[in-house]
Amino acid sequence: MRSLELEALLDISARGGADPLLVQGAGGNTSIKEVGTLWIKASGLWLAHARQRDVMVPVALDPLLEALDRMDPAAEKAQDFVISEMNPSGLRPSIETTVHALMPQKVVIHVHCVETIATAVQTIGAAIAAERLTGIPHVFVPYARPGLPLAKAIAERLQEKTSVLILGNHGLAVAAETVADAAILLTEVSRRLTTQRRAAPSADLAALSRLAVDSGYCLPDDARLHAVATDLESCRIAAGGSLYPDHVIFLGKGSVIAAPGETAVSIETARNERGETLPPLLLFPGKGVLVEKTISAGALAMARCLADVTARIPANGRLRYLSDAENAELLGWDAEKYRQKLNRAGQALQ
Ligand SMILES: [Zn+2]
Repeated sequence: MRSLELEALLDISARGGADPLLVQGAGGNTSIKEVGTLWIKASGLWLAHARQRDVMVPVALDPLLEALDRMDPAAEKAQDFVISEMNPSGLRPSIETTVHALMPQKVVIHVHCVETIATAVQTIGAAIAAERLTGIPHVFVPYARPGLPLAKAIAERLQEKTSVLILGNHGLAVAAETVADAAILLTEVSRRLTTQRRAAPSADLAALSRLAVDSGYCLPDDARLHAVATDLESCRIAAGGSLYPDHVIFLGKGSVIAAPGETAVSIETARNERGETLPPLLLFPGKGVLVEKTISAGALAMARCLADVTARIPANGRLRYLSDAENAELLGWDAEKYRQKLNRAGQALQ
């Protein structure tokens, strides 16, 4: 039988998972530690579905922490530490299980909060966090690939009272002894990091429809996706490259910005000739975006996230983009290939 706290965590997970300003697609995860077991959200599943299906996997906490201590590669996927007899659906633990294991508090909530990301991609992200989070024991963890590298970076910085991690180029983790306290902390941190969102002109739907003719691209249903292209400052920020891991996993490296005169068909043709994969999202500066007709739900959520994050980054902000090596490491990573596969399987998970 589930404890009341686990039930409360599922409620918070479903609620947070349905808020695109906190969680996009299969991103983010929650956990609770109960009598030596770490219950953690499964890889590739959506927090938003926490009330509709089984999303939590039981992991043996002490053996995982011991493996982490010796930086055993098995700790990365945490699969070897799953308590199989309590995992009837055969779920795999999140690739971010190590973040949850390392924080000593009972409840951990990790989200890709857009207010936090908009701060954590700036070169002065740590200073902004220090100023805005006065009185909250937090640490800024510079970007490291999720999994063992991130676990190492966290372990090096974690202090006894740390309850908040601002993860550079990534997101936010909050920890508390109860679900209610973790939820309050999450709301408070995200409120304190809130910045003015730049307003964006509306999309030129007629022009976009013409640009999509005869291509595999169409207008998105959600008009909010256009802001990243209609606001030229956001477009310039997106043009600089990838800012956080889930962007790379679901939308590919960087963003594809159409040059003057280019159409969806001309971009498709050029890419096909070069043997390159087609991007799920195309940005037409000043006009709006087109999405692939076959775009996955995960990619669509990340397209919305791109509009939401870039609109919150100050125009004069100096940014730290993911390097070529960091992009390549995310795209070549086995654990992420599993999540991409579940994303392509799509509707089966809804
Ligand atoms: Zn994350």
